[in-house]
Amino acid sequence: MGDLLSKLGEQNFLNKEEIVHFLSHLTAETKTRLFRMADETRQLHYSKSVYMRGLIEFSNYCRRDCMYCGLRKSNPKVDRYRLTEDEILMCCEEGYALGYRSFVLQSGEDFTFTSRILTRIIQEIKRRFPDSAVTLSIGERDEEFYRKLYEAGADRFLLRHETASRSLYESLHPSMSYDNRIECLHTLKRIGYQVGAGFMVGLPGQTLEHLAEDLLFLKDLHPEMIGIGPFIPHSATPLREATGGTVEDTLVMIAMARLFVPDALMPATTAMGTLDPIGREKALSAGANVVMPILSPLSVREKYALYENKICTGDESAHCRHCIEMRIVSSGYRIDLGRGDHCSYPSPVA
Ligand code: SAH
Repeated sequence: MGDLLSKLGEQNFLNKEEIVHFLSHLTAETKTRLFRMADETRQLHYSKSVYMRGLIEFSNYCRRDCMYCGLRKSNPKVDRYRLTEDEILMCCEEGYALGYRSFVLQSGEDFTFTSRILTRIIQEIKRRFPDSAVTLSIGERDEEFYRKLYEAGADRFLLRHETASRSLYESLHPSMSYDNRIECLHTLKRIGYQVGAGFMVGLPGQTLEHLAEDLLFLKDLHPEMIGIGPFIPHSATPLREATGGTVEDTLVMIAMARLFVPDALMPATTAMGTLDPIGREKALSAGANVVMPILSPLSVREKYALYENKICTGDESAHCRHCIEMRIVSSGYRIDLGRGDHCSYPSPVA
C-alpha cells in the first residue's frame, strides 16, 4: 500500500483500479501517512493558513427534491423563510465587524431570488465592503443568470457535483439532470468564477468505485474549491433509514482529494463538526484549509436543516468566530481573515 501512496504523493494521480485497491486495503498506519502527506501538500500552497468565510443561509425554499436533503420541496415540516435584502446586508455588516472579508450566500434553489434581486444584493455588499469576496451557493441556473451575477461582482460559486457517478446521481435526484449539473460547473468556470465542486461520503449505494470516480472527476475539472462532507440522514427524507457517512471515511476522501488537487481550497465542513466534536480539527489535519462559520440570524438557523442536529444553531456569530479561531489555533494552524482567494488568483486591490 505504501507504494501506491508514494506514487500518489509524487504524481498526484492514481487510476481507478489503483484508487479502489488503495481504499480497500487501508491500514491504520497507511492512513496516518496519508493524512500527514495531505497536510504537507496543503502547506506547499497555503502554509498553515486557514481561511474564514462567513456563511449566510438566506433562504430555505427549494424547488428541488434531492432524496438526502432536509430542505427538499416535499418535506412539509420545514418552516420556510427568506431573509430580506436588509437582513442579508446586516449579516455581512456583523461579519465584517468581526473581521470577515469573505461571505458565502447559500440557499435552496429559490427562484424568488431573481438575477435582478441578487445583482442588487451583490452590488451593495461590494459597495459597502469592497475588500471582501462574495461566494454564491444557490444551485443550478442558466448561463445568462450566472454571467449577470459575475458582472455584479460575485467572485466564486459553490456547486457540489454530489457524486460523479451518473447512476448514483440519478437515483438521488429524481427529475434532475446529471449532465446539466456538470455543465453548470463548466459554464461557471468559463465565465471566470472560482468554482467549488465536491461530494458526499457514505451515500446509500455508494461504492469505492464511485468514490474513485469522484476523485478522477475532480482531477479533470481542477476546481479552485472542493467541499467534501459525510452524508447525514435526515428523518423527514426518504433516506431516513440510511446509515450515513463516517468521519473516518470522509477524512480519507479529504486527504485523497488534497493529493489529487494540491492547490484546492477545502473546507472542514460543519457536517464533520456535527458528527464529531473535533471533526473539523481532524479535517484540518487531513488537508482541509477553510472553515465557514455561520453568520445567519439566530432566528433562522434551526430552519436551515440540510441534516439534523447541526452544530452552532444556537450560537451568536461572535461566539462562532472565536470558537472556531480557538479550534484552528489549537490544531497548530493560523487564521486568515482575508478574502482567501485561490493561490492562482492575485487578490484584487480594493
Ligand atoms: N441548493 C444549493 C446548496 C445546497 S446545500 C445547491 O444545490 O448547490 C449545500 C450542500 O449540502 C449540498 O450540495 C449537499 O452536498 C449537502 N447536503 C445536503 N443534504 C445533506 C445531508 N443530509 N447530509 C450531508 N450533506 C448534505
